[in-house]
Amino acid sequence: MAENQLGGQQYLVLPEGASRLLGKEAQRTNIAVGYAVASVVKTTLGPKGMDKMLVSELGDIVITNDGATILEEMNVEHPVAKILVEVAKTQDKEVGDGTTSAVIIAGDLLRNAGNLLDMGIPPAAIIRGYDIAREKALEALQNASSTVTIDDSDKLEKIAKISIGSKNIGSDATKAALTKLVIQAIKQVSVKNGSKVTIDKDFIKLEKKEGGSIEDTAFINGVLIDKEVAHPGMPKSVKNAAIALLDIALEIEKTETDAKIEITSPEQMQAFLSQEEKMLKDMADKIVKSKANVVFVQKGIDDVAQHYLAKAGVMAVRRVKKSDMEKLSKATGARMITSLDDLDAKDLGFAGLVEERKISGEQMIFVEKCKDPKSVTIFIRGGTKQAADEVERALTDVIGAVSSAIEIGRYVTGGGSTEVEVAMKLRDIATDIGGREQLAIQAFADALEVVPKALADSAGMDPIDTLVQLRSKHKGKDGRIYGIDVYKNSISDMERLGVIEPLKVKAQAISSATEASVSILRIDDMISSKGTRPPAGGPGGMGGMPGGMGGMED
Ligand code: ADP
Ligand code: MG
Repeated sequence: MAENQLGGQQYLVLPEGASRLLGKEAQRTNIAVGYAVASVVKTTLGPKGMDKMLVSELGDIVITNDGATILEEMNVEHPVAKILVEVAKTQDKEVGDGTTSAVIIAGDLLRNAGNLLDMGIPPAAIIRGYDIAREKALEALQNASSTVTIDDSDKLEKIAKISIGSKNIGSDATKAALTKLVIQAIKQVSVKNGSKVTIDKDFIKLEKKEGGSIEDTAFINGVLIDKEVAHPGMPKSVKNAAIALLDIALEIEKTETDAKIEITSPEQMQAFLSQEEKMLKDMADKIVKSKANVVFVQKGIDDVAQHYLAKAGVMAVRRVKKSDMEKLSKATGARMITSLDDLDAKDLGFAGLVEERKISGEQMIFVEKCKDPKSVTIFIRGGTKQAADEVERALTDVIGAVSSAIEIGRYVTGGGSTEVEVAMKLRDIATDIGGREQLAIQAFADALEVVPKALADSAGMDPIDTLVQLRSKHKGKDGRIYGIDVYKNSISDMERLGVIEPLKVKAQAISSATEASVSILRIDDMISSKGTRPPAGGPGGMGGMPGGMGGMED
C-alpha cells in the first residue's frame, strides 16, 4: 500500500471512492457486525432450537438449523461476517458438529470485548486476557472430561443421539435408526493401530437421492456410485464380482492418429478403421484375460471397446469420479491400474454383488457385500430435496461427533453444564491473575455461558435465573454434571440423562471462537477499496482485507 509523508503526518493514498474506518470506530463496527451475525443462529441451538428458512436469489429454498449452513447460505459480504462464517466452516471441517456453539461463543466474546473497550481497556490487554483464558479453558475442559472407547457402544449411541437430537428430521425412532447406521459405518471404516483408533470420515460416503422417505435411508457395505452401466448389452447384476479399477481411457487418442494418417481411398479407410478396432478389441481382451467381470473406468470407454466387453459378459462403468475410484479401491481391495499391460488377476477387488438399480427414475450402481470394506456408504433418502439435504447435514454432524469421540477418546456433559463449569474455573483463575487481563478472562467466562443461556431461552426458561441456579449447583460437590434438561425445563444431571458430547466438539468451538474474535479485535484500520458505502451498510461494503485479519488462517 502506498504511503507518503505530508506535513509530518502519514497519509494513506487511497483510490477514489475508497473508504476507511480507523481505531475505535473500526472496532465498534466490527464488533457490532460480528455480534449481529452470531445472533442470527442463536435461536437454533439445541433440541428445542428453531429452524431457519433461507431463500436464495434464484429462489432455492434451504430449511435447516445447522449453523454452518445458515451462515453460508446467508451470503454475507462484510469481511467480519465472513470471518464468522469461517469459524463455522472450520468447526465443520475439524469436527463436523458444534458449529452453532462456536459462532455464538465468538459473538459473545466480541460483544463482551466491546464492553471492556467502552471501559477504556486497551484491545491488547483484552487479547492477552482472551489468550490466557482460552488456554485455561481447554485445560478445564480436559479436566471435566471422561473416557470413551470404540467398544463403548452405549456411550457412543448417546453421543450420536445428542448430536442428531437437535436436528428436525423426523421421529425419535427414525433418528435412532439413523444413528445406528452411522455407528455401524464408523466402526466398519475405523482402523486400529495399537490402542489408537483412526477414522477417515472421507470413506463414509453420503450419497443421497430424493424420493422414498427418510426411513428408507440405508447402510451399504461398499460404495454406491451415481452412474450407469455403459452398454445395454452388459450384465446389470454381477454376483461375486472381480473388479478392475482403471485410471485410463478405453479409447484411442484422436491426436495420435489424425495428424499422421492421410487417407486417400476407401480401402485405406477400412484398414485404418480395422486398425483402430483392433486396438480397442485388444484393450477389452486384456481386461477379459485378467478375469475381471466388472470394470470401473475413470475416463471414457469407446463404443467398440464397450461392444467387446459386453460380448464377454463384463459390466463396465465409465467416467467414474476419482474420489469414487479411491473409495472403490478401499472397499473392494482392488488396485488402481494406470496401464492395461499391468492388469493382473491379483489387482482385482471383490464385491459380493455389483448391481445397477433404478432409484427414483435414475440408474445407480451398488457395489455391496464387500469383505471388511474400509470404505462404506450411507444412502440417504427423503421425501423432498430439503428433507434429504437436512438428513445429510445431520449425519455429517453425527459422523463428526462420534468419530471425534472415538479418536480423542474423551467426552464431556452437555446441556450447558460444561460451559458453566469451565466458566467457573476461569473466574477462579482470573482473580489470581489480576490486572486488566482479569477483566478479560471474566468476560471470556461470561461469553461461554451464552450456551446455557441460549438453551434455557429455547426451552422457554428464564436465561438469567437458570444461569444463577446452574452456577450455584456447580459450586456444590460433583456439581460439574448439572445442565439444562430442555424437555423438563429443569436443572438436572446430564450424565444420568445421557446428554454427552465429544470433548473435541467443545474444545474446537472454544479455540476457533477465540481465534476469530481475537483476529477481529486486532483490526484498527479498515480500508475499503471498492465502493463508497460504509462497511456496516450491508452487501458489497468492504473489499479490502486489512493485514490484521491474517490471523484467521492457521
Ligand atoms: P451445534 O451446532 O453447536 O452443535 P446444536 O443445535 O446441535 O448446535 O446444539 C448443541 C447444544 O445443545 C449443545 O450445547 C448440547 O449440549 C445441547 N443439547 C443437545 N441435546 C440436548 C438435550 N437433550 N438436553 C440438553 N441439552 C442438549
Ligand atoms: Mg450439534
